[in-house]
Amino acid sequence: MTNDRIAQRCICCASIELDRSPAVLMPFVAKRVFGHEPVEITEEWGLRDLQQGMAYTLCASLQCQQCGVLFLDYRFSDQEMTQLYHGYRDERYNRERQYYEPNYGKASPHYEGRAEYVGDVENWLASRVPNNPSVLDWGGGSGLNTLFLGRSKLTHIYDISSVATVEGVEAVSLETIEQHQYDLVICSQVLEHVPYPHELLKQIAGALDEHTLLYLEVPNEVLIRENPGNKKLAGLKRHWHEHVNFFTEQSLRELVQYAGLQVHEIMNLDVNLGWRTGNLVGLIAKRIK
Ligand SMILES: [Zn+2]
Repeated sequence: MTNDRIAQRCICCASIELDRSPAVLMPFVAKRVFGHEPVEITEEWGLRDLQQGMAYTLCASLQCQQCGVLFLDYRFSDQEMTQLYHGYRDERYNRERQYYEPNYGKASPHYEGRAEYVGDVENWLASRVPNNPSVLDWGGGSGLNTLFLGRSKLTHIYDISSVATVEGVEAVSLETIEQHQYDLVICSQVLEHVPYPHELLKQIAGALDEHTLLYLEVPNEVLIRENPGNKKLAGLKRHWHEHVNFFTEQSLRELVQYAGLQVHEIMNLDVNLGWRTGNLVGLIAKRIK
């Protein structure tokens, strides 16, 4: 596996068989990551060979012809990821985002409270983890939606967004993680955002001991869900936002195996967020003994 700036291989299975199609990076992401702003190329630019009109940050949609994952060709650096997610969904973040996306946040009151579907995931996992489990949530933000919150022995969160944590949650460093054993490690709604998911999963795998259950959760994106097995999706994906990876079940299995883990179960769950419905993929994995 390589960490290319512009992906040359599949981010899940390393295949070089990629289908490609042009797309644009949405302005909010382009602004935070690259400092780009949409611009109109006018006559005053004096560019003889270019057509006039709006220019946006150009990118490509890539789809792996082996495992089916659909992804953005740009892979952001650590610094760019920090810029993109700094103060995630706080007042300043929302204001900056609303500049490009006027309706952002207005119809989504779920950002304020704990998501209802979290209870369904807890029910699915409850018989598989001890009562009052010790929990590490990798990328869990404030901890608002961390599983088993309020009935865990301990809840640690590791996150780059620097948002304040809710009561009962402790934000921890990698050093602290190394000193603990966890019954449950969660990585929920994170993998779709990260540039090198194989690297993240390897890192997470290092925090598991042989009893730890790993719960991974990603959105089952509409384009993937409505086109099962279709390897010609690149041309249908014309814009990219903060979800830079659209996973298929097979691509998730590839990632988990790469990290030296074994998939135990996979489930699909319909999610009703009040303002919209969706579907997610939940996966349980453990270390190979
Ligand atoms: Zn692949």
